[in-house]
Amino acid sequence: MLEIKRLILGPVQTNTYLVADSANRQAAVIDPAWDGERIAVEALGLGWTIGAVWITHAHFDHFGGAAGLVNGVKAPPLVALHPDDLSLWKSGGGWRLFGLRIDEPPAPSAWLSDRMSLSLGGEQFEVRHCPGHSPGHVIFVCEAQKTAFVGDVIFKNGIGRSDLPGGNEARLLRSIRENILSLPDDVRLYPGHGAQTTVGAERRANPFLVSGSLP
Ligand SMILES: [Zn+2]
Ligand SMILES: [Zn+2]
Repeated sequence: MLEIKRLILGPVQTNTYLVADSANRQAAVIDPAWDGERIAVEALGLGWTIGAVWITHAHFDHFGGAAGLVNGVKAPPLVALHPDDLSLWKSGGGWRLFGLRIDEPPAPSAWLSDRMSLSLGGEQFEVRHCPGHSPGHVIFVCEAQKTAFVGDVIFKNGIGRSDLPGGNEARLLRSIRENILSLPDDVRLYPGHGAQTTVGAERRANPFLVSGSLP
């Protein structure tokens, strides 16, 4: 069984997800948005061991806490990123545009690729490459547990911005169609900002997807 703890962190209210297999308390952090030390303390309090940090994409508000988190746990976790977002990661994920500073992030130690499989305890996640909001955006899908972490690709009643450097609206809509709307309706979606939703709810009511403009 997956256990999920959401923390809302940082200057743009980003969702950080602590995810664990309840059977063995092995945990991953999806998007250590901000306040990395606090994420480490939270995991400790839950009795979870953080073995990995999975990054949906390299905007600063999704990894601003990576340095603090890695320094705040005993054994440094693996930090996994899609290589198409590496230059964004190295340049600070756009924080300069927002006039904010983040601590120098650790170098990624694992590379994500489309359709690769990640284990978390006894559960399996599939990585799906979903460019459009950023070039190397990925989502993490655990179909057995009807759960997907979707970063800034799709939100409850919204979709990600495509006007930032490396963004592309047509590509984003294609990513949503191929990798999210292809999932069963009862899969829960955990976005990078705002409330959770389901594939079915967005298929029916997301104004960006029901207008008939979906390619
Ligand atoms: Zn973003
Ligand atoms: Zn974001």
